[in-house]
Amino acid sequence: MDIPYGRHHLSQEDIDAVLNTLQSDYITQGSMARQFEDRVSTMVQANYGVVVNSATSALHISCLALGLKKGDYLWTSAITFVASANCGLSCGAKVDFVDIDKDTYNICPKALEEKLIKAKKNNTLPKIVIPVHMGGQSCNMLEIFKLSKKFGFKIIEDASHAIGGKYLNDSIGSCKYSDITVFSFHPVKIITTIEGGMALTNDHTLAYKMTLYREHGITKNTEHFVIQTPPLWHYEQHEIGYNYRMNDVQASLGLSQLNRLSYFITMRNKIATNYNSILKDLPIKLPFIQKESLSAFHLFIIRLNLKEIKKTHKEVFNNLHQKGIKVGMHYMPVYLHPYYKDLGFKEGYCPNSEDYFNSAITLPIYPRLTTTEQNYISKTLGSLLL
Ligand SMILES: *Cc1c(COP(=O)(O)O)cnc(C)c1O
Repeated sequence: MDIPYGRHHLSQEDIDAVLNTLQSDYITQGSMARQFEDRVSTMVQANYGVVVNSATSALHISCLALGLKKGDYLWTSAITFVASANCGLSCGAKVDFVDIDKDTYNICPKALEEKLIKAKKNNTLPKIVIPVHMGGQSCNMLEIFKLSKKFGFKIIEDASHAIGGKYLNDSIGSCKYSDITVFSFHPVKIITTIEGGMALTNDHTLAYKMTLYREHGITKNTEHFVIQTPPLWHYEQHEIGYNYRMNDVQASLGLSQLNRLSYFITMRNKIATNYNSILKDLPIKLPFIQKESLSAFHLFIIRLNLKEIKKTHKEVFNNLHQKGIKVGMHYMPVYLHPYYKDLGFKEGYCPNSEDYFNSAITLPIYPRLTTTEQNYISKTLGSLLL
């Protein structure tokens, strides 16, 4: 047995879609990429979608479009993938971390508020806060949105785990309570374009700026030209940008994957429900589920009840790997990475995040995970813990 924690789901239709594009006249960013943007933005009811080669790039152009620069602060959750914080450093800004909520593992609105009050006194309020929808379950966006109005910061939702999920009655990505939302299409995420990402927004200017940063800072739109009566070959560079384009081969895969998004979310939720029933008697904490919303269940995270078991966190993790169950760890608090420690962060900075890190394990979850495999995982975990 070898069971990964996450795995992509490819179908013959996906492969056919990719081959079709490969055999067409146009293979780099073109009509497929535009269709992909249109379909995702329509689906989540956001006005604009800007497709790029990764969520990391999407976070970077989001920060650039919001004007993040040297001297500014960007805050994010301590428990996330490094990209949610690195985008701030890439813009020359300072990065800081907010502790998580003990139950949801999302950024804690109370901890955020307390930190904002202090920052206001010190004149170090953040320009951008990036809440991360851990495992696919939305953050408390109503509270974070209220705080953004009170303290004047912009919000980028890092929804890398959460396409297909809902917050209350809205699709994640609608940007009802944020300026920009970012999705990832890495193969372990909900849908894949091999590598890829998208930034969603309702703001025309932000969408325009993000497309500029995606393409070298170049515009081909005559309305924006500085030069009058331009020749046909003319284009202009207005900013320093990057080449963050997604090609049409990837976009056609994304379009084909989108056809099965609701199936993926249903399967992931079914698997989660089954875990909740077969694991309920073990000395672990099961994921907290917010009833009013719909988690995309990118990750199924359990917490070991270390007081009730004889093994250490590391032993349980290693033993599961030895038995072919390739569980994951999402994530070490970002500030404990050597790079961030060199910036001055120390152990003990976010206590809830460190507690979480000392007992969390991500169990396998992906659409093709079978009931037999789930039973094997449950039995193995039981034999290690009881
Ligand atoms: C995967 C992930 C990213 C980065 O996504 P890429 O598409 O691989 O660049 C960013 N933030 C979070 C929370 C992620 O899980």
